[in-house]
Amino acid sequence: MENVYIAPVGSPEIESGYIRIEGDGIADIGPMSQAHTGSETRIDGTGMLATPGLVNTHHHLYQWASQGLAQDATLFEWLVSLYQVWAAMDAEVVHGAASAGLGYLALSGCTLSSDHHYVFPKGRGDLFAAEIEAARDLGIRFHPARGSMDRGQSQGGLPPDVVVEGLDEILDATAEAIDTYHDPSFSSKLRVAVAPCSPFSVSAELMTQAASLARSKGVRLHTHLAETLDEDEHCVEQFGLRPTDYMEKLGWLGPDVWFAHTVHLSDSDIDKFAATGTGSAHCPSSNGRLGAGIARVSEMLRRGANVGLGVDGNASSELTPMAGEMRQAMLFQRARYGPTALTARQALEMATLGGARNLGRQNELGTLEVGKLADIALWRVDGAFTSAVTDPVCALVFGPQLPLARLLVGGDTIVENDELKTVSQDAVGRSGADAHRRLMRLAQEQGFTAAKEVHQ
Ligand code: ZN
Repeated sequence: MENVYIAPVGSPEIESGYIRIEGDGIADIGPMSQAHTGSETRIDGTGMLATPGLVNTHHHLYQWASQGLAQDATLFEWLVSLYQVWAAMDAEVVHGAASAGLGYLALSGCTLSSDHHYVFPKGRGDLFAAEIEAARDLGIRFHPARGSMDRGQSQGGLPPDVVVEGLDEILDATAEAIDTYHDPSFSSKLRVAVAPCSPFSVSAELMTQAASLARSKGVRLHTHLAETLDEDEHCVEQFGLRPTDYMEKLGWLGPDVWFAHTVHLSDSDIDKFAATGTGSAHCPSSNGRLGAGIARVSEMLRRGANVGLGVDGNASSELTPMAGEMRQAMLFQRARYGPTALTARQALEMATLGGARNLGRQNELGTLEVGKLADIALWRVDGAFTSAVTDPVCALVFGPQLPLARLLVGGDTIVENDELKTVSQDAVGRSGADAHRRLMRLAQEQGFTAAKEVHQ
């Protein structure tokens, strides 16, 4: 790759540089004046910007099949409507939704995505395997988290009992998912995390045992936290503690934990995150869509807490491109704190290195440097309109998504000129729409009236 503007993240930008890839890693990187000619395959990067591949640290891929519902609801209203629809999903729905959702992420520069799947209705096939198959077909790096809920309405939780599982069943299935799929190697394309859903849908016992299981297996821990003020109220009422204090009590703060959202944090919560190395997945589009609030991201970064980005499930952030979350994050922080709150380069760092830290991959990816994996996004900045912005990083973050000239995962091309290369783009797109129609039909057949009501 040569003649390209390189924004490596964590080291100085190079106006006209080269990146030499050997195997699945970066063998050399530097200015063109130091490049030596070889016989390898060459990619001309003239008019392009190279960044690390973007890392998505919070998602619910199955929600591709339930987009556009409960359009004006708060988080709790939205969940109560949708739980019943999700209860009808099966492996075919999950596979179609994950194929479309992951393809869409790749088209917006994402080379590594996590996923948080926490609804496992009985007798509906192997939902976890279905999303893993979709990721393998595409060739994207994938960190699925085996989620769970065990605290239904009869136990004071939010979800109906029909979508929760038993504690032992959850722990067995989670251990099995790790043993079957988790690959801890340097170049790993598949790592499993443990992810009970949220304080308002999971028992304290499951939170504690899930943490022990994850730590005994050497995998990471994830859940939703401090997303809305309703959750604050719920935690104080039910546990006598605010969300962060509750999770601290359960042993859930640490360098192996990242939380989704963390919108409503106090100063001392932020300091605890920084001191313990606990990460956050900031999901600004979803927080905006549900009116949850604006996370204190610029303060968190200033106080030393790690923040990555997440698009969140598409049912609460319809058709959100990964690249677009950099812009959304920057605009939210500036709207709240003023124009110096978050720079374009900080937004890019959150979407790359910040995400890699959340997922425990900062030694392997998240920046462009020798020895790291060749996960690279190549953005076109010489278009008729975009070339009026001379700073390529500004063009990438300040505006809508730039054309994606190429996306490499471990040196392999996944996207070329805004087209998926490893799978049929039309087919995966259609599979997402089919999954939506199938899910709505199954939900209505099972008598879940919410499938109709949520359209209003
Ligand atoms: Zn979520």
